[in-house]
Amino acid sequence: MIEGGCFCGEIRYQIDDGEHLAVTCHCSMCRRTSGAPFVVWLVVPKAGFGYTSGKPKLLDSSEHGRRYFCSSCGTPAACMVDSHPDFIDVTLGSLDCPETITPTQEIYTDSRLPWVMSGTEETT
Ligand SMILES: [Zn+2]
Ligand SMILES: [Zn+2]
Repeated sequence: MIEGGCFCGEIRYQIDDGEHLAVTCHCSMCRRTSGAPFVVWLVVPKAGFGYTSGKPKLLDSSEHGRRYFCSSCGTPAACMVDSHPDFIDVTLGSLDCPETITPTQEIYTDSRLPWVMSGTEETT
């Protein structure tokens, strides 16, 4: 089991073990809703994800996606997008052991901040 939760502890979740894809997203919506330069998402099957404590606040962030936050401390916990309806994207940074998973893909690199170094591309 992979476990995680928000800063204040109100929201807790569990994810079934597996080869989950971790994707770094540089889009402006992730940036703004997190307040961070980019967000790393762990893409997990919905069937293997569940909240064990608390209920996150829903933000309809776009026509194609919904984001979930802790209503007490504001930690971004998850995102669901219509392009992969059977999966839930969980913020890697809210995992209890984020160091155990390394992102292997980057998306929206066109809007990557110029001083953010790529974690997946070879630099020359
Ligand atoms: Zn919280
Ligand atoms: Zn994004």
